[in-house]
Amino acid sequence: MYDKEFLLFIYKRLAMKHGEDVSVDYMQKLRSIIDDTDPKQLTPNVTCNHKWSKLNDKLGFCEKCLITGKIKHVNKTEG
Ligand SMILES: [Zn+2]
Repeated sequence: MYDKEFLLFIYKRLAMKHGEDVSVDYMQKLRSIIDDTDPKQLTPNVTCNHKWSKLNDKLGFCEKCLITGKIKHVNKTEG
């Protein structure tokens, strides 16, 4: 699910299911963030916190958690 779509889901859920007032500052802020979010932005559901190694580059995935190199790695440094 794209980030914009996900954030809108959360926004609607807060307003409709939990009765949050859409005029309060934090709901307006959330709405602004949603409006400014690129529709193509996609944050993966999983991330790797391991130190990225040259071996991982060769393998194409993290040797410790098997998460692919295509996924955003939190600390992608050589080591
Ligand atoms: Zn990992």
